[in-house]
Amino acid sequence: MTAGVVVVLNAGSSSLKFSLYEGDAVLLSGQVDGIGVRPGVTARDGAGTKLTAPDLAAGPPGTPAEALLALLPWLREHLGGRPLLALGHRVVHGGPNHDRPCLVTAALLDDLAALSPLAPLHQPHNLSPIHAAMERTPGLPQVACFDTAFHRTIPEVAQVYALPFEMAARGIRRYGFHGLSYEYIASVLPEVAPGLATGRVVVAHLGNGASLCALQGGRSVATTMGFSALDGLPMGTRCGEIDPAVVLHLMREDGLDIAGVEALLYRRSGLLGLSGVSSDFRDLLASEDPRARFAIKVFVYRVARGIGSLAAALGGLDGIVFTAGIGENAASIRAAICEACSWLGVELDAVANAATGPVISRAGSRAAAYVIPTDENLMIARHTRALLADTAE
Ligand code: AMP
Repeated sequence: MTAGVVVVLNAGSSSLKFSLYEGDAVLLSGQVDGIGVRPGVTARDGAGTKLTAPDLAAGPPGTPAEALLALLPWLREHLGGRPLLALGHRVVHGGPNHDRPCLVTAALLDDLAALSPLAPLHQPHNLSPIHAAMERTPGLPQVACFDTAFHRTIPEVAQVYALPFEMAARGIRRYGFHGLSYEYIASVLPEVAPGLATGRVVVAHLGNGASLCALQGGRSVATTMGFSALDGLPMGTRCGEIDPAVVLHLMREDGLDIAGVEALLYRRSGLLGLSGVSSDFRDLLASEDPRARFAIKVFVYRVARGIGSLAAALGGLDGIVFTAGIGENAASIRAAICEACSWLGVELDAVANAATGPVISRAGSRAAAYVIPTDENLMIARHTRALLADTAE
């Protein structure tokens, strides 16, 4: 294996998350928040100890790209003499053709920029630091890892919408997201849940963003997110699946325009919209407000219904895996979802569930249930290193 450090980057509209990996070990991680407003950096070393982060006050970055350029010298200082091998980026959209991570070239960037209309809230922000690093450090390899790539194994019947046929060719189809998370879970199944690795599994990525993925033998065959990351389960502030006629109605009756619809569906809906309390699951669990309780009920109902739907796509169910913030930490929610899935043969072991598993189903349960922490950054670090090794051959 090539010795050296990979920097994993995840750029949003006003934030830039970064982690330094040597092999599978995290040397340092942190984030720049408030980019464009009042940027601040926080960072910790691999043991979780807070580090003195660089002060960006002198030339506050206005974009994630500027933040990366401001951060690079500081990151280099923390390499401890090890070589910097590459930057590995999380990129939301790889479109219909990219089924694996790619080494960044000018042509690839043009290709990915053309996908921006499919993910206008994320793709441009993901790409701008890649452009900036390419100009500033042209010799430094960069790898783009896509949230959509893992789902390219989904059969055509599950990818198309029942719109006029030519729409799919225009790119209006189901892509699916959270692919790096699902890929990580699939990669550890042989070790953590060997009985499930070749079977029919629904992975529930339940975090601020939430989706389900049906795995058959470790490959994605169906998922709840679709053309965008708005579809499927209700999320922190996103609505999940709704009848598109609701949008038509609101446009006609309330005069909502594109910005209004976008704000409603992406930022004012989901758990926040239902509860009126918070988008954060911990707040909802701690709240006495009946609407907070109702929002939790809706979430559990929709997750359980989604698992049933994916079990149908799989032709049966051998197990469920819970992951991400809610899936890894909220034992009561896992219990409620498993209870609602008892018809699929899931029998929960309450003690194991309270202890966070990893196995949380009873011995002899027809379908198993597991809790497995996800690690999208590690997946990006591994892909980046593997691509470098491939290109060096
Ligand atoms: P993620 O997007 O994976 O970071 O997950 C964030 C979500 O996980 C938020 O809604 C958090 O409230 C939720 N979460 C994190 N820890 C807990 C916990 N201990 N109990 C319930 N929900 C949690």
